[in-house]
Amino acid sequence: MSETPKLSNDCFALPEGVSWTPVDEALENLRGSARQVTQSETLGVLQAGGRILAENVTARRANPPYENSAMDGYGFANIETDGERVLPLVDGRSAAGAPYLETVPAGMAIRILTGAKIPAGVDTVVMQEDVALDGDRIRFGAGLKTGANIRPLGEDVTAGQDILPAGRVLQPQDLGLLAAAGVDRVRVCKPLRVGVLSTGDELRQVGEQAEPHQIYDSNRPMLLELVRRWGMEPVDLGHAGDDAEVVHDALDRAAETADVVLTTGGASAGDEDHISAALRKAGVLNLWRVAIKPGRPLALGMWNGVPVFGLPGNPVAALTCALLFARPYLSVLAGGAWLTPRPLILPAAFSKNKKAGRREYLRARLNDAGSVEVYHSEGSGRISGLSWADGLVELEDGARQVSEGDPVRFYPYSAFGI
Ligand code: AMP
Ligand code: MG
Repeated sequence: MSETPKLSNDCFALPEGVSWTPVDEALENLRGSARQVTQSETLGVLQAGGRILAENVTARRANPPYENSAMDGYGFANIETDGERVLPLVDGRSAAGAPYLETVPAGMAIRILTGAKIPAGVDTVVMQEDVALDGDRIRFGAGLKTGANIRPLGEDVTAGQDILPAGRVLQPQDLGLLAAAGVDRVRVCKPLRVGVLSTGDELRQVGEQAEPHQIYDSNRPMLLELVRRWGMEPVDLGHAGDDAEVVHDALDRAAETADVVLTTGGASAGDEDHISAALRKAGVLNLWRVAIKPGRPLALGMWNGVPVFGLPGNPVAALTCALLFARPYLSVLAGGAWLTPRPLILPAAFSKNKKAGRREYLRARLNDAGSVEVYHSEGSGRISGLSWADGLVELEDGARQVSEGDPVRFYPYSAFGI
């Protein structure tokens, strides 16, 4: 791809008349608006781990590329008989990387090692454990099928076969497959540059002196690391105070250095909600009132052609909304698939009476019995609960009475790529 596609602002528009948008509907809308914005480049296989494939990859070579032995043993031309067989050995052997280049005569056998090329004249291998070695001849029992202990050429992959699809995030095992298939370079997407901006007059940065009325900025370290874990390029946009002009300038800077921007704080409709105010003033605000707890409105808009994803300021809500909404959206922008996390259905180790109206996510973890515990407090300012947890429990939009032992949907953090 030579040109970066543009996203238009109306991509974030929600249908008219919707007040509280269910999570699934918000996700569908986001999905409909997400387009790849990254360009591609060619990298060596050793450099490509964690990148997203920009093209389907086909095998340049079969795996295995030659018929070879699955065992250490002896190769020969089989005759399926009922009797014991005694075969003299040829002088020489076939080892991995050191093939035997002559033909093994009928009625003779050859020493052969795992991974070695099958020499001409051999169609069967008997494993060494099943053989009695008697000077320069071997003796073994009946019943060996022709072709035993031989890996056929191309039994795993044939040359020209599709092996990995565009959009695939290259895993360690994929690099092994690429190498086996003779692929040394791949076309991959350049990393998505994700800007992270915190807002709020109360924030100080780690390492700075904080006054009693100030708090440390938790969201920026958290989200920068999250983005890094997702294989994207974090762009630290620092922190903007609650000032319309400062936020405006910060967004201008953001749009120059990032492909997409995650902001936290100031996303509601209050006096000091300067992210939504700046987007509104520029005529690009879409305020999504998503029926979710924890979480408040998401402020979405295009700033100079760059999507701005305004997350709630509260760190618990910021992380939850980043995992649920930002992750699949950013994945598509990066050139990957829309990601839908898969829950585990596990027994609850808690009880709860949940009212209808919005979906809830509780900080949760597995106990030794394989049941799901939830954090003792749902207070959304309790950041420590995020670290206590190893995932989130999802309680559906409608009312739900959960008793101990009831099945609940548990998403380990790993389901969100962390
Ligand atoms: P806001 O969305 O700006 O109204 O912020 C909601 C709550 O989250 C307030 O209590 C803020 O102080 C807090 N908050 C906002 N940004 C951060 C941040 N980066 N780190 C920690 N807390 C934050
Ligand atoms: Mg604020």
